[in-house]
Amino acid sequence: MSSTTHQTPVYSVELFPPKTAQGMEKLKGAIERINSVGPEYFSVTYGAGGSTRERTFETIDWLCGQGIDTAPHLACIGSTRAEVKSILERYRDQGIRRLVALRGDMPSGTGGGHSGEFRYASELVSYIRSQFGDVFSIEVAAYPEYHPQAGNPARDLEYFKHKVEAGADGAITQYFYNADAYFGFIESCCRVGVDIPIVPGIMPITNFTQLARFSDASGAEIPRWIRRRLEGYGDDAESIRAFGHEVVLTLCRHLIEGGAPGLHFYSMNQSDPVMRLWEALGLPQPG
Ligand code: FAD
Repeated sequence: MSSTTHQTPVYSVELFPPKTAQGMEKLKGAIERINSVGPEYFSVTYGAGGSTRERTFETIDWLCGQGIDTAPHLACIGSTRAEVKSILERYRDQGIRRLVALRGDMPSGTGGGHSGEFRYASELVSYIRSQFGDVFSIEVAAYPEYHPQAGNPARDLEYFKHKVEAGADGAITQYFYNADAYFGFIESCCRVGVDIPIVPGIMPITNFTQLARFSDASGAEIPRWIRRRLEGYGDDAESIRAFGHEVVLTLCRHLIEGGAPGLHFYSMNQSDPVMRLWEALGLPQPG
């Protein structure tokens, strides 16, 4: 894993912008709790086509106001260059120095919307570099189990390499529960000369129905043995959480021991599952 061990591991946490004022208040509490263990940064998702734009800004503004290191996601599909530029200027002026640059997917029910001026994330990365130089450090998405629309794995890898050549500094993966998929992907990257840090995305398991829905949409596989155990617990939320914690803890240990350059937790705006993992893994904490 030589490509992934050349820097201090980065442990980060992802949030999504809440829909309601009440959700925002709950999120602030969750952020304060998670922030007490000292993640490197919080990232905040963004709806393609600008569908969650204002709510993303509100969440980013609050985080920046608290002096918390923040990485906004920016999805380019459905946007014009001028729209993207004004968002980037806003972030630059707020002192933001890290972005997660994505293509995104048009929200269903928009009738396709206007397709905008970017087709792929690589074009967004090139645009950011051409307009803003090295102001931002840029993370992109990676898919150890391959992107659901990818024609074949070799092509997907080639397109991933385009994003890196366009100027990405690092990548965060889609979540997965099979560590071999991650290590295999890293090996393939090494073979084609891609050696940016590729941080595994970690999805805690707390709710089977929700996880199954996400996994169907994103192409992230839930291994049969995990699915069967989760199904078997039915409505027993406590057993699902306990089993889910053990599965994800074992995965994280395996990834860290194998040289992963950090972990990126998909918090789903919940503090408890992330903090339980953080503590059980003995991840660095402030002071
Ligand atoms: P791309 O890298 O552009 O790839 C998309 C597809 O196009 C792939 O199948 C790729 O193989 C193919 N491709 C790329 N270049 C070419 C080319 N030149 N010719 C032909 N095919 C090509 N979505 C959101 O809407 N908001 C978010 O905040 C968000 N955050 C995310 C965070 C992470 C860490 C991850 C892993 C995903 C996130 N997503 C988010 C989901 C993501 O937007 C979708 O998975 C989307 O379908 C692909 O985005 P991408 O940036 O990976 O696209």
